[in-house]
Amino acid sequence: MIEPTSTAARIAVVGGGFTGLTAAYELAKAGHHVEVYEAAPTFGGLVAGFELEDGFPLERAYHFLYTTDKWMIGMAEELGIRDRLSFHPSSIKAFHEGERYGFTTPLELLRFKPLSLIDRIRTGLTGLRTLSLKNWQPLTTVTAYEWLCKVNGKKATDIVWKPLLMGKFDVYWDKVTMAWLWTRIHVRQTSKIKGEQTERLGYFEGGFRIMVDRWLEELTARGAVLRPSTPIQAFTEVEGKPALVIDGEERRFDAVLGAIPSTALARAAKDHPAMTPEYSKLLTDIDYLGAALMVITTDRPITDVYWHQIHDLDAPFLVFLSLDSLIGVENTGGRYIYYIGDYVQNDDELMTMDEDALRERWYAGLEKLLPEFTRDMVTESHVFRFRNAQHIVDVTFQSRIPEMKTPLPGYFLANFAQVFPEDRGTNYAVRDGLKVAELIEESLAQEPTRVARDEAPTIPADLGSAAS
Ligand SMILES: Cc1cc2nc3c(=O)[nH]c(=O)nc-3n(C[C@H](O)[C@H](O)[C@H](O)COP(=O)(O)OP(=O)(O)OC[C@H]3O[C@@H](n4cnc5c(N)ncnc54)[C@H](O)[C@@H]3O)c2cc1C
Repeated sequence: MIEPTSTAARIAVVGGGFTGLTAAYELAKAGHHVEVYEAAPTFGGLVAGFELEDGFPLERAYHFLYTTDKWMIGMAEELGIRDRLSFHPSSIKAFHEGERYGFTTPLELLRFKPLSLIDRIRTGLTGLRTLSLKNWQPLTTVTAYEWLCKVNGKKATDIVWKPLLMGKFDVYWDKVTMAWLWTRIHVRQTSKIKGEQTERLGYFEGGFRIMVDRWLEELTARGAVLRPSTPIQAFTEVEGKPALVIDGEERRFDAVLGAIPSTALARAAKDHPAMTPEYSKLLTDIDYLGAALMVITTDRPITDVYWHQIHDLDAPFLVFLSLDSLIGVENTGGRYIYYIGDYVQNDDELMTMDEDALRERWYAGLEKLLPEFTRDMVTESHVFRFRNAQHIVDVTFQSRIPEMKTPLPGYFLANFAQVFPEDRGTNYAVRDGLKVAELIEESLAQEPTRVARDEAPTIPADLGSAAS
C-alpha cells in the first residue's frame, strides 16, 4: 500500500475496469488528484453490471471467485464488503454426445463413461502429475495439447481437454501453453477447502457491482474526477509531460495509466513522439478473442448444477451455467438465472449477428442439450458482447509481455494481457492495479515537477448511472 505523499500529482487513469479502479483508488488514497476516463457508460469493464427488468442487479458476464483469490478478498475487506462475499459449494456436469455426467469429484471422473476405464484412471493421474510439478517455467514453451497427448493419451485428450481448450481459445486452441493449464489446475486444487470434495466459489450478495460502487464512492469522497462515456483517442506529450486529448482539448498530467487493452494503447499512442514500430508491434502482437453471452431468467428451474461444460466440438456454445444453483434461489429472490456463452474471434458472426438470431441459435442448442428446457420458460433474456475478452497465451507469450512502465515518458500500462501464467481474472486485476499504482508512486518520487494546479479540470464528478 502506498503512503500519503506531500507532493500530490495529477494522474489520469484511462480505463475503468477492475485494474484501473484499483489503481485509481490507491493513488487517490495516497493523496493524488486522480481522473478516471472510461469509454463505456458504466464502470467495471468486463465485470460491469446490468439490471433485470425488476431491478435485480447482475453481471453481464458470469463472475465468481476462488477461495485463494487473496487480492480480491483483501480489497473486499478494505472496502468494508467482505461480509457480503460468500463461498458456495459448486457442481459441474459434463456433456458428451447427448449424455451428461457428474464431473465434480474424483469418483465421478472414475464413472465418466466416454473414456475407457484405463483412460479415466490416466486422466486422474494426469491431474495428479500436473499437481506434482512444482515449477511451471519449463512448461511455457510446450503446448497444452502436445503435453496432454503425451501424458494423458490422444484419445482421452481429444474427449476431455480438447473441447475445453477449443471452447476457451477458439481457433487458437492448439497454441496455448501448458504453463497456463498448469496454473488453472493448481488454482482449482489449492482453492479446495481441506476435507471437502467439491470446490467452493465466491459471489457477492448484490453482485460484483457492489465493489465498483464502493470504489466510486471512495474516489468521489477523495475528489477524483470520474468520467464515464469518455473514450480517450489520443495519448500524446506536451512540454515533457504526458497529455491526453479530452473533448478535443489537450490536457497535461504528471502520469497517465492506460488500464486498457494493449492494442488500444497502440492505437491511442500511434502519434506519440516516443512510439516506435517495435513497441507498437509488441502491443499489437497480442491476439484477443471476443465473448458473446446471453443471460436468461426462467419461471422454473432447468438444472440444479452450477457449471455445465460441453465436450462436443459442434456445440453452439462453450458454457451453460446456473447462478441460482451456485448461490441458492433464496439469494436470487426466487429467480432462476442462467448464463450461456462462447469465446470467439472478434470478427465471428456471433459478435455482430442480430440478437434474435443469436437467441434462436442458442435456444435450439439448449433444447438439444437439456430436454428440461423449453422456450416458454424464459421470462427475460439479455444479450451482451465483449471485444477483447480473452488473450491468447501461446508458447511465445511470456517473452512478449509488455512492461507496466512503458517507453512513453510518464505513461504506464496495466491490463489482463500482462497476467501470466495465471488465467486472467479480477484477482489479478486488483493485484496489478496495486502494483502499477506503486510503480507510478516510485516514478513520481523521482520526478518532482508537477503540472500546475491551474491546469486542473473543472469537470465535476459525474457518476450518473455509473455502476448500474
Ligand atoms: C466471459 C468472462 C467471464 C469471466 N469470468 C471471471 C470470473 O469468473 N472470475 C474472475 O475473477 N474474472 C473473470 N473474468 C475476467 C475478468 O473480468 C477480467 O480479468 C477483469 O475484469 C479485467 O479487468 P481490466 O480492468 O484489466 O480490464 P477490462 O475490464 O477490460 O477494463 C478495461 C476498460 O478500459 C476501457 N477502455 C478501453 N479503451 C478505452 C479508451 N480508449 N478510453 C477509455 N476507456 C477505455 C474499457 O471500456 C474497459 O472498461 C471473466 C471475463 C469474461 C470476459
